[in-house]
Amino acid sequence: MPATAATLVQGSRLIPTDAGARLELSFDRLPASHKIFTLDHPDRVVIDLADTKLARALGTVATAGTAVRGIRSGVHQGTGLRIVVDLSGPMTATGTTLAAAGQPMLQIELHNRNRGPAARAATTAIQAPGAGQPVASAPRPPPSPSPPARGAQRDIVIAIDAGHGGQDPGAIGPNGLREKQVVLAISKELKGAIDREPGYRAVLVRTGDYFIPLAQRPAIARRAGADVMLSIHADAFHRVGAHGASVYALSQKRATSETAKYLAERENRSDLIGGSVALHDKDPMLAGVILDLSMTATLNHSLHLGSQVLTAMGSVNKLHKNQVEQAGFVVLKSPDLPSILVETGFISNPQEAGRLADAGHQRRLAGAIFNGVKRHFAVHPPDGTRIAWQRRNGSGRTHVIDRGDTLSTIAEQYDTSVNQLIRHNGLDSAVIRVGQTLKIPGSS
Ligand SMILES: [Zn+2]
Repeated sequence: MPATAATLVQGSRLIPTDAGARLELSFDRLPASHKIFTLDHPDRVVIDLADTKLARALGTVATAGTAVRGIRSGVHQGTGLRIVVDLSGPMTATGTTLAAAGQPMLQIELHNRNRGPAARAATTAIQAPGAGQPVASAPRPPPSPSPPARGAQRDIVIAIDAGHGGQDPGAIGPNGLREKQVVLAISKELKGAIDREPGYRAVLVRTGDYFIPLAQRPAIARRAGADVMLSIHADAFHRVGAHGASVYALSQKRATSETAKYLAERENRSDLIGGSVALHDKDPMLAGVILDLSMTATLNHSLHLGSQVLTAMGSVNKLHKNQVEQAGFVVLKSPDLPSILVETGFISNPQEAGRLADAGHQRRLAGAIFNGVKRHFAVHPPDGTRIAWQRRNGSGRTHVIDRGDTLSTIAEQYDTSVNQLIRHNGLDSAVIRVGQTLKIPGSS
């Protein structure tokens, strides 16, 4: 067989679970074959991937509360990649490949092994399956009951990145209002709203008034096991009259508007103010082939998330543009983490600055952003989450009518029909009102 280009590992993350931890490796395509086995003295899990390379360094993994002590990699048999997970005690390892949901992935469940001799786990080699067919390698965990125990369904994790911080104040509005303070306040409101909602959990990338270089922000989100990252800003524009909220996703090519270009340049300068080098000019991982290959699926999710958030924000705020704009923001350049940048308003506009400083408006903005996030995940819930389970099983799903909703947009969002919605809710007619809660019928 002719040699083909190597498979690329584009992302890795470690998520603590009740039974131990889950290591997720994402690829541009599934490796031709892989092998997972455990070794002892010292305890470790070895993952061999045929014809595979790292697109980026594995980075450090969040290991608190798990038996995982670290992760390292090396070349194996010339063209292969060996990943070694170092453990502080014996664990079993079970691999599942997923090809269906956008990004090909290998999930390795690491389960604490508390008793019995430190028997070596069976070694299994499997071929890459056809698209969409999960294939598990031995040893298998005990079959999970249906529906799965609540603890087995993980929360969707939202990383919230409050822009600027520390020596970088961001934009400064009339009365000396600082963007870094406004966006941290909104971010904390947003975290509160997310954490109160079952099935969701939020992590703040920055929790106080200090600076984090732009390229490190997605890395922090990834280490926390985030499914998406929201960067929160409240910027200035050279036209004082500019007003309204905007949502941005990454563009590799050119900015979709003059404002988008101006803001991207401003935000990217943040690294210079913050005292670090401009990483986006130096990081080879942010350029070229790797991004082109890997960004598409992530960007599609970012654009869908962005349009839902923008629509939801339209109910509490004027919009600057009715569409998600695209520009080259460094903080959005994650090949494997859907990310959007939310401009909550222009701090350079005196009226808007007044609203942005108001706690009530901050809370309404946070609520609207989260409504948009929920609408995105109602359609695209990550596998293994409680929200995905609810979508499949129609258990307890409700939708609160927002401005702009119609029965047909709601039906589309939940994969049901207008007639079913009317029947399920005992509606007299197709008339709905803002704030009304609809019960969503199960989809199967
Ligand atoms: Zn900003």
